[in-house]
Amino acid sequence: MNSIGIFGGTFDPIHNGHLRIALEALEELSLSAVHFIPCAQSPLRSEPAATNDIRLKMVKAAVEAEPRFFMDTREIKRVGPSYTYDTLTTLRDGYKESSMCLILGMDSFISLPRWYRWEELIDLAHIVIAHRPGWKAPTEGLLGDFVQEHLAESSQDAVTKREGRLFVLPVTQLEISATKLRSSIRLGLDPKFLVPESVRAIIKETECYA
Ligand code: ATP
Repeated sequence: MNSIGIFGGTFDPIHNGHLRIALEALEELSLSAVHFIPCAQSPLRSEPAATNDIRLKMVKAAVEAEPRFFMDTREIKRVGPSYTYDTLTTLRDGYKESSMCLILGMDSFISLPRWYRWEELIDLAHIVIAHRPGWKAPTEGLLGDFVQEHLAESSQDAVTKREGRLFVLPVTQLEISATKLRSSIRLGLDPKFLVPESVRAIIKETECYA
């Protein structure tokens, strides 16, 4: 079965931590493509620092380096809060016969019970959790039980089943965060080697984090 990755985020800015986990998920789970979906209005976070146009420009520039990566603008075009439940529903309409894998960092997964209709997300897609420095996988409580209930038996499940399984990926640990990047750029430090060169050029040219 064809299997696609779905990777949402504020991407304020997109950085090498994002790109690396998307690539490792793609390889480990034999995905044919990863859709990068910049959110318009996160229900759980404050407004992004960079404008939508600049964030889109940065994501577009970053994904150009890998032919299996695509930018998907459906959340930016939608009015109102960017609920992942709505995004997966519209993607499911277009990918009826494919397996879909929602990629999340461990910190995002921990916040899942605060997401709109979170328990139904696994009925629309697999959930792929990438390890992130400083965050541990839940072993008990609501999320611990959720992991136990849905944990995949093998990475093959991502291509043999359309949805419903949970994968925990011990990806290469890169301690890069968009928040830390924005603060260091504000202090005049260079984001070189933490973001792609094309993204660094956009940050420099637009002074979006100055
Ligand atoms: P911030 O530091 O402001 O929270 P961020 O670096 O987490 O930003 P987002 O756009 O919010 O960037 O993240 C999109 C997704 O990527 C989230 O699921 C997040 O958990 C994941 N992610 C971001 N950076 C990493 C990283 N270094 N390792 C693993 N996952 C990451």
